[in-house]
Amino acid sequence: MTNTYLIKYGEIFLKGKNRFIFEDALVNRVNEAVEKVDGRFKVYKNLSRVYVECKSEFDEDELIAALKKVFGITAICPVSVLEDKGFDDLKERLVEYVKEYHPEANFTFKMLCKRARKNYPLNSQEMNCALGEVLLNAYPDIKVDVHKPDVLITVEVRERIYVYSKSIPGPGGMPVGTAGKAMVLLSGGLDSPVAAYMISKRGVKIDAVYFHAPPYTSERAKEKVVDLARIVSAYTGPIKLHVINFTDIQMAIYQKCPPDELTIIMRRYMMRIAEHLAKESGCMGLVTGESIGQVASQTMQSLMCTNEVCTLPVYRPLIAFDKQDIVDIAEKIETYETSVLPYEDCCTIFVAEHPVTKPSPAVIEKHEHNLDDCIEEMFKTAIETRETIEIN
Ligand code: ATP
Ligand code: MG
Repeated sequence: MTNTYLIKYGEIFLKGKNRFIFEDALVNRVNEAVEKVDGRFKVYKNLSRVYVECKSEFDEDELIAALKKVFGITAICPVSVLEDKGFDDLKERLVEYVKEYHPEANFTFKMLCKRARKNYPLNSQEMNCALGEVLLNAYPDIKVDVHKPDVLITVEVRERIYVYSKSIPGPGGMPVGTAGKAMVLLSGGLDSPVAAYMISKRGVKIDAVYFHAPPYTSERAKEKVVDLARIVSAYTGPIKLHVINFTDIQMAIYQKCPPDELTIIMRRYMMRIAEHLAKESGCMGLVTGESIGQVASQTMQSLMCTNEVCTLPVYRPLIAFDKQDIVDIAEKIETYETSVLPYEDCCTIFVAEHPVTKPSPAVIEKHEHNLDDCIEEMFKTAIETRETIEIN
C-alpha cells in the first residue's frame, strides 16, 4: 500500500492568477479533513499538484472517506513515489508497481509519461515506448490500447518520480471559503440541509439560523437541527448556528393576521431576521431549501412575496429540483435518516388548512400592519435572545 495520495482538482485551474489562492484554500481544507483521521499526515503543494503523505500507520478507507468530503477535489490517486535512480531502476519499479496494483495482470493499458523536469535523459514519448515495452514483456496477458485503455498508467518525473493508475472520484466543486459566506435558513426538513451542502460545494462558507418555537416545538426538534448541521459540517466546515426563539412573533401573527396568510407572513419574518443576522456577520446572501411548487408557500407568487422583504440575494439551490432528486442527495450526504425523524416543525403547528397559494404582496403587507404595535420589540428581543451554537 502506498503512503502518498495525489489530490486532483478541476475548476481551480480556471482561475488564472488567482489560482494560488484556490490551491492554498484546498490545502487548508485538506489539512482540516485529515486532522480528523487517525494518524499523522503531511499535506503539501508542489508544482500545481497537492499531495497527502501519510507519516504513520493509517486506515486508508477512513482517509479516503474524509477526502471525499473536501470540495474542490475531483480525484484522489494513490501514488507510488520513487527516488530517481536511473531509467533501468524505474523500469524494474514499474513492473513491481503493476504487480502490486493490478495483480490480475490482464488488462489493456496506455502509458502516459510527463516530465516536469526537462533534464531527464528520455523525453516523454521515448519513455512511453520503453516503459510500455517493459510491461508487455513482463506480463503476457496485457495489451496496449491507446484509445480506450482499461488502465492509464501515469508516470510523472519531478524531483522524484510519481507513478499512479487508480483514481477515486472526489466531490468536485470549489474549496469552501473561496466564494464568501452565506446564511442558510436551516430547518429540520429534508431540503435545507441539501441546499446548504450544494451552496457550500461552490466554495461558499456557511452560517445557519434555525427558528425554534418552544414549547410548540420540542428540544428534540432543535437537537435534530443541530445533528443535521453537524452532518453537513463534515462538508462545509465549522458552522455557526443561530437558534432564534420565534414563538412570540409566531403567536402574534397567529392572533392578528388572517389564518390563510400565516405561513407567508411567518416566512417573511424569518427572512427579515435571517437577513439581519447575515448582515451582522458579513454574509453576502441568504440560502433556503425552497423549490417551485413544492408547497403553498413555494408557488412563484408566494416566493415573490417572501423575497420582497429581502435586500440581500436569496439563493435557492433546489429551486428546480424534484423531491426525488433532493432525496437522492440527502441519502448521499447522509442527512436523510435524520431529516425524516418525525419531530414537529414550527411551520406545521400553526399551519392553516387552506393557505393562500397566490398571495398578493400588497395585501400581505397591509395585514402585516396588524403587528405594528408589537413587532419591532419582538424582532429586537428575538435577535437579542438568540442562542449561538458552534458546530465543528
Ligand atoms: P425543509 O425541508 O428545508 O424544511 P420544506 O419543504 O419543509 O423545507 P418550508 O417549511 O416551506 O419547506 O420551508 C422552506 C424553507 O424555509 C426551508 O427550506 C428553510 O430554508 C426555511 N425554513 C423553514 N422553516 C424553518 C425553520 N424553522 N428554521 C429555519 N429555516 C426554516
Ligand atoms: Mg420544513
